Amino acid sequence: MQTYDVIVLGVGSMGGAAAAELAGRGLRVLGLEQFWPGHDRGSAHGGTRIVRQSYFEGAAYVPLLRRAYVGWRALEEASGRELLTLCGGLYVGDEDSAVVVGSLASAREHGLAYELLSAGEIRRRFPTMAPAPHAVGVYEAAAGYTRPEETTFATVQVARSHGAEIRFDERVVRWSPTPGGGVQVETVNGTYGADRLVVTPGAWAPELLGDLALPLRVERQMFAWFTPELTDAVPYARYTDVEHPVYVEETDGNGILYGFPMVDGPDGGLKLAFFRQDGPPTTPQGVDRTVHPHEVAALRSRALELFPHLTGPLVTAKTCLYTTTRDEHFVVGLHPGVPQVAVACGFSGHGFKFVPVIGEVLADLVVDGATPHDITLFDPLRGGLRPRADRVT
Ligand SMILES: Cc1cc2nc3c(=O)[nH]c(=O)nc-3n(C[C@H](O)[C@H](O)[C@H](O)COP(=O)(O)OP(=O)(O)OC[C@H]3O[C@@H](n4cnc5c(N)ncnc54)[C@H](O)[C@@H]3O)c2cc1C
Repeated sequence: MQTYDVIVLGVGSMGGAAAAELAGRGLRVLGLEQFWPGHDRGSAHGGTRIVRQSYFEGAAYVPLLRRAYVGWRALEEASGRELLTLCGGLYVGDEDSAVVVGSLASAREHGLAYELLSAGEIRRRFPTMAPAPHAVGVYEAAAGYTRPEETTFATVQVARSHGAEIRFDERVVRWSPTPGGGVQVETVNGTYGADRLVVTPGAWAPELLGDLALPLRVERQMFAWFTPELTDAVPYARYTDVEHPVYVEETDGNGILYGFPMVDGPDGGLKLAFFRQDGPPTTPQGVDRTVHPHEVAALRSRALELFPHLTGPLVTAKTCLYTTTRDEHFVVGLHPGVPQVAVACGFSGHGFKFVPVIGEVLADLVVDGATPHDITLFDPLRGGLRPRADRVT
């Protein structure tokens, strides 16, 4: 049986970053991924992901985001790939909306630079948008987007450059602790041993971390790219990442919409989506991966509330998977019952921007059994994860 210092189970967003960080620290790493690099079966596809610091999900995330920004530039440097574009971020809504209140709170608590814009100022500065007259916007320059597929290519490239073995098209069937305090991992092709294991399975977490009984919800999400009608007043240039921010908007409770500038050229469309579409829980195996016309119509009519010119043809639409916890905070830490295993899952639709720092945290947990980063919010045993009756006391 081949043995390693550490095996990474699931080389997607977080697993790729962990493999690169661990191999960079000199460990003998085996990464196992069931699909191909940059695949579209999980949570790490669709060309772009929002990155922002004035974090409406909670000020506690900001120190990790600051560290992630350093990590993004380091990964770009190490891989020679362009991953992070800071085109600005605009968070729009009623003054008392969670998006506006939360973004402002994080910015003020951590002294992040921001501007508070009225609806009129937003229309003048970003004429693609027509927010409701009573809406306001929090604008931060230190926000933008990253590229999920390119990121996985980069982390795998960096991991391999430090000697890691990354195997694609090799599904893990099960893992188990060994009496000697290590782990054994069985795949469709063979069995491997290691001193440590990192489990970053994304939407497959309910299967691969079933023993933790985490109440995770795998949710089908979709995003679409629409063509704007270009005018002299609002030409293509106003939609590009030179003049257009990433955005998150919720006004009068109309559901959180988010999206990107046009980053794939004049024919690439403007990508947007609902932040959290309610739907029945699903599984990676059973999910409906077809986007249906009624879904596109619902998204377009919502998008027209903010983008009145978004009347051109649909370019394309795709599905993707969230793995959501009850409190919508991540699950990152040592496995409570198997200390030689580090786990990271339940990123609840907002984890990608943290990829470099999650890689660092997982490597710290493997090498030192602890990390200097504050991850108490992500404790696998935290009360908020479970309904009162199921709480682990
Ligand atoms: C539509 C959508 C939009 C999003 N937008 C944003 C955004 O704008 N900003 C942001 O910060 N976040 C965003 N996210 C969230 C972000 O993409 C996820 O939080 C992140 O990608 C989760 O990473 P992961 O490593 O847990 O999962 P993944 O990247 O899916 O990786 C898990 C990997 O494990 C592999 N695996 C699972 N089981 C096995 C097995 N048995 N054997 C071998 N390999 C296995 C899978 O094949 C997969 O490659 C979005 C997510 C979606 C779905």
